[in-house]
Amino acid sequence: MPKFVFVTGGVVSSLGKGIAAASIGALLESRGLKVTIIKMDPYLNVDPGTMSPFQHGEVFVTEDGAETDLDLGHYERFLEARMRKVNNFTTGQIYDSVLRKERRGEYLGKTVQVIPHITNEIQDFILRGARAGSPDEVDVAIVEVGGTVGDIESLPFLEAIRQLSLRQGRGSSCFIHLTLVPFIPSAGELKTKPTQHSVQKLREIGVSPHLLLCRADRPIPEDERDKISLFSNVPPEAVISVADVDSIYRIPRMLWEQAVDQQIFDALALAPRPPANLAVWDDLVDRLEHPKAVVRIAMVGKYVDLTESYKSLTEALVHAALHTRSRVQIDYIDSEELEAHGTEMLAPYQGILVPGGFGKRGVEGKILAIRYAREHRVPYLGICLGLQLAVIEFARHVAGLGQANSTEFFPSCAEPVIALITEWTSSDGSLQSRSQQSDLGGTMRLGAQRCPVGPGTRAHAIYGAEVHERHRHRYEVNNLFKARLAQAGLVISSETPTEALVEMVELPPSVHPWFMAVQFHPEFTSTPRQGHPLFISYVQAALARPVGTSA
Ligand code: GLN
Repeated sequence: MPKFVFVTGGVVSSLGKGIAAASIGALLESRGLKVTIIKMDPYLNVDPGTMSPFQHGEVFVTEDGAETDLDLGHYERFLEARMRKVNNFTTGQIYDSVLRKERRGEYLGKTVQVIPHITNEIQDFILRGARAGSPDEVDVAIVEVGGTVGDIESLPFLEAIRQLSLRQGRGSSCFIHLTLVPFIPSAGELKTKPTQHSVQKLREIGVSPHLLLCRADRPIPEDERDKISLFSNVPPEAVISVADVDSIYRIPRMLWEQAVDQQIFDALALAPRPPANLAVWDDLVDRLEHPKAVVRIAMVGKYVDLTESYKSLTEALVHAALHTRSRVQIDYIDSEELEAHGTEMLAPYQGILVPGGFGKRGVEGKILAIRYAREHRVPYLGICLGLQLAVIEFARHVAGLGQANSTEFFPSCAEPVIALITEWTSSDGSLQSRSQQSDLGGTMRLGAQRCPVGPGTRAHAIYGAEVHERHRHRYEVNNLFKARLAQAGLVISSETPTEALVEMVELPPSVHPWFMAVQFHPEFTSTPRQGHPLFISYVQAALARPVGTSA
């Protein structure tokens, strides 16, 4: 049976539970254990796919096509293990599953209740996430409980993990609680009371933490840790000081220095293993501290999206910088500002990037930025919507398709170079059927797909003969316009094997130093250890461009 590390959070949200869980996972993995991480989200949405990125941050996509919480991105960046659909579930999914069983009569007429039916279902989902009983079964499953202890929403999760640890028996589970120790400037002191209260709240529901990870803006001195220990009934060495750091890659070492991995080994009665290997994290921190050049990238998007929504993307650029011994400075440019004030503000940048996105707002500003990048020979990377808009820009200004647009923004446009597959059925390129998509959760091209890459292209130099990347979009380049675009000089460097859907486009080196756009999301497969070949190539091209050039 797998063993479990449960990670809960207290006092406030946004303490970095996901990064903490991922760092713990990295330490355990480096000691030779087979590890996975499961995230339980307390909201009722079935998945975050339909939630506003402004509210929820990025939607991370797994290889098997699940739209998940962005914490799964942290897990994949810190661990060698890959996440799947089963690594993230929500209260909505639990209820959905229980209600379906109820309708099928599987509860044999019993009253269906939160305890035991919902809590049992949660336990089954956790065991499924740990691949229990399958050949893929892990040694340790880290389970991150979304929300904060004391929330009504998280209560069934907490009850379920308490029951699961009881069921699995002594030595099966290690509870780690992440809290805040705020510094109060007027008192000049770190305050431990919120942590004391949060641990009490946890113990009220029958969970006694083995370790406390105490977040603070500075290292927590021994006397404060002793106080927390005394009031929380946790040994002093298990009160871990997690001070603010400038890089998340420092956290594995910080936890290791306080023997977090060994304390988990002890709590779980795990057989001894070789010590943790921190070389990869030390190397990353060293690269971060000693860049040889700075590269400025303009990321052009909708104002409201330009915050937490591009976590994986900013990370992928940071990884590429680490692997080119540079530091990347990303400036977020509101595309509506570009529409209002023109493209001069793009002059200082060595690279322009248009990321994925949905909806009409700000689209014309992004097209302006792409035109600027193409005409001024600024390295350009387009991702998903960034490909679709690059194709529209090229169609309008190079291929002579002045009306080119996407049916996402202009359903009746005359030249729908981007459209739903169901819309491009007629031979002259005009639309015949406009099927209404009502189930927004179920109509996407999602997950990873293998596609051949055309020889002689830049894409081939980067990826080799095959690309295997993850998708999350509804619209596609309209196959009916492909010949026209290719004639005008757009290189379609990769297509899907069966339906010939466009995967990648580029401009030849004779026309532009580096112009590439991809229909998939390469940022989801970038890791700090390896970086990602497409982002590395892009950052290299940007580094090669002198700062402040305008041609
Ligand atoms: N809105 C576009 C589509 O649905 C692009 C999506 C994206 O960038 N992820 O196809």
